[in-house]
Amino acid sequence: MSVHKKVIIVGSGPAGYTAAIYTGRAGLEPLVLAGTQSGGQLMITTDVENYPGFPEGIQGPELMERFRKQAERFGAHVMDIDVTAVDLRVKPFVVRAGDHMFTADSIIIATGASAKWIGLENELKLRGKGVSACATCDAFFFKGKNVFVVGGGDTAMEEAIFLTKFAQHVTVVHRRDTLRASKIMVKKAMTNPKISFLFNSEVNEVRGTDHVTGLEIKNVVEGTTKMVPADGLFIAIGHEPNTILFRGHLETDSRGYLLVSDRSKTNIEGVFAAGDVRDPRYRQAVTAAGSGCEAALDLEKYLEEHHHEPMVENKINAA
Ligand code: NAP
Repeated sequence: MSVHKKVIIVGSGPAGYTAAIYTGRAGLEPLVLAGTQSGGQLMITTDVENYPGFPEGIQGPELMERFRKQAERFGAHVMDIDVTAVDLRVKPFVVRAGDHMFTADSIIIATGASAKWIGLENELKLRGKGVSACATCDAFFFKGKNVFVVGGGDTAMEEAIFLTKFAQHVTVVHRRDTLRASKIMVKKAMTNPKISFLFNSEVNEVRGTDHVTGLEIKNVVEGTTKMVPADGLFIAIGHEPNTILFRGHLETDSRGYLLVSDRSKTNIEGVFAAGDVRDPRYRQAVTAAGSGCEAALDLEKYLEEHHHEPMVENKINAA
């Protein structure tokens, strides 16, 4: 038997919870399918220093707990289950999560993005045994160790800086000679005495059987390779959107990010997208939260026009 909802929100990062706060305040009693690892990418972040309203900074998991409580306060029902299938070709839309089946008049997709991997032969085998994509989760295990970070963006700098709290030395391996990261992050990393850089370089291979012992590094300009001893390898080469569930239903760009028009509308009327799942550019908690708000307001308007339900006047209250 299925349960019918006016609004289902898939995903529970800043975008999903903000959409839940707004649709909750509109009296729409949203169902948030938060995933078994609820809270999104901020759950694996330590200090969030750029979310407005927290002058001293806040821990990522605590921030997400606050988002969730605020959504629940306005009537959002949050279930920590993974969506396994959707059918957006029928109305009401169908959303399945394991044995649970739901139907919905409208949906907000806020499934975010996940870390990318290089695709090395041993990368998967040694994941959790020295190979990681999350310094904030795993740095603790590298006390006094010699670790490498791959990437030249803000994430790589952030991971490298965080790792210096535990590791003896951190080497950033970047495939070009120019870092993509913001000036402030580059300065922080460059002036950290525990961090050094290998430019124009790529990791070709991870060595080790039950834990990482070394890396083969290629200088892409000279074409030479060398083996270096290593205890850990952190991959920080960007993210890809979590859109597999929606393939064949919703239009995406060539990288899989959901395409939207008019800020939040997907190609299917009544289905909206918010946050990193549709934003390869800014990918910030605050922009994700803002887009969650936009999707919620657009959804309210859609329901008003198509489902003739009287709405609680939350827009005026929220202003
Ligand atoms: P990113 O900016 O896309 O950087 C990815 C890096 O990985 C690039 O340097 C790229 O090299 C490299 N790379 C990509 N694929 C690779 C491969 N297969 N092998 C080797 N290297 C590869 O991703 P990000 O660092 O995750 O940042 C994403 C967004 O989040 C950015 O807008 C960033 O500003 C933001 N962010 C902000 C903060 C903060 O403000 N505290 C923290 C983290 C992230 P190329 O440079 O050669 O392309």
